[in-house]
Amino acid sequence: MSESVTVRPLETPCPVCAHTLAVPFFAGGQQPLATLGWPQSGDEALAMPRLPLDFVQCPRCSHVWNTAFRYDAVPYRSQPNRMYNNGRIWQGHLAETRDRLLSYLPPVPTVVEIGCGDGHFLRALAEARAGQGDYIGFDPNSSPETGQGVRFQARLFEPLRDVPLFLPDAVVIRHVLEHLTAPAMLLEQLAWAVAQSGKVCHLFAEVPCIDRVFGSDRLADFFYEHVSHFTGDSFRHLLARAGSLREVAHGYDGEVVYACVELGVAPAHTARAAAAAAFAQRSVANRARIAEKLAALHALGARVAIWGGTGKSAAFIHHYALDAERFPLVVDSDAAKAGTFVPGTGQQIYFRDQLKAQPVDVVIIPTQWRAGDIVAEMAREGIVTGQVLIEHGGDLVDFFAGTHPYRQRPAA
Ligand SMILES: [Zn+2]
Repeated sequence: MSESVTVRPLETPCPVCAHTLAVPFFAGGQQPLATLGWPQSGDEALAMPRLPLDFVQCPRCSHVWNTAFRYDAVPYRSQPNRMYNNGRIWQGHLAETRDRLLSYLPPVPTVVEIGCGDGHFLRALAEARAGQGDYIGFDPNSSPETGQGVRFQARLFEPLRDVPLFLPDAVVIRHVLEHLTAPAMLLEQLAWAVAQSGKVCHLFAEVPCIDRVFGSDRLADFFYEHVSHFTGDSFRHLLARAGSLREVAHGYDGEVVYACVELGVAPAHTARAAAAAAFAQRSVANRARIAEKLAALHALGARVAIWGGTGKSAAFIHHYALDAERFPLVVDSDAAKAGTFVPGTGQQIYFRDQLKAQPVDVVIIPTQWRAGDIVAEMAREGIVTGQVLIEHGGDLVDFFAGTHPYRQRPAA
């Protein structure tokens, strides 16, 4: 099929893969809620507010979503999401899903279901295991009766808090992700929480699938409550963000797509997170140490100049709290910067020649990578000082006598 059309990409980030451009897909106009409205009379139905349907598609991962969706416009708290679960073929699908999930579980499992609704799926799991295990359903808008191994919490599941609390063997999310504006956030939080718990935990997710829309041009799939419309590819893309995909497949004649993921985080990512936490911790001690050394220099009566007063040099002045009272002298190689002032602290910036008339004991060069050039400039200009200090390894280091990687000579 060759259609001649004009593609007009829009700037809107994909909730699945974060691609920044999307293409208009279906302009549905203004429509009332389709599944969570529950008007009580014909008049009420006619008077329902209209909400915008502006579906776009991500050219990268194929996801379709409503860019005009606002979560606040959907009355989840006052209206239950009544999913019809009694069709015979659908019942068969549910039973298959239950059995597939059970095949991944230990004999006495702990299972959490996020957005469990009336709890029918969780109860089916518990029954299949004769009540052996712990089955916990979370849903802020539903509080079914607890009993027979199944308990319910009328609140949102918060992965970083609740995974260590319940240590589930499996997390189930069925027909929920398509309602979320930021589904990746929930999945990545689950992955991190499980990685930190050290326990093996599988995620079982299922959503309606629109793969058949593309061949059939059908439009009834698109309504307000489903902000996200998953294709097989976009669902796979999303789930891959949560760990190692064990299984992705279509069910119910291609109308749903489900996946099993072993939740977790790539070792390189956990290593980077650990390194970041260590950096953050060191930065506090390093900052205090250097600020203290600088304060000691001032207390000893040393005449100090800071070489550079903008950009990284200004950042140095800010990080180590070098106020204009204790450290008034700031110079720069760039004559054009002379007469300007250091942002935030207010030292006037002088041309470097100021150091010929006003010699100092210590020159601090916040831009270590330029120190070689600056030291050469000082020698060339006959600027003499007792010591040149740079910041390295959480300390102030003597440029000439200390150990640091910034001593290379500039190319001739
Ligand atoms: Zn995408």
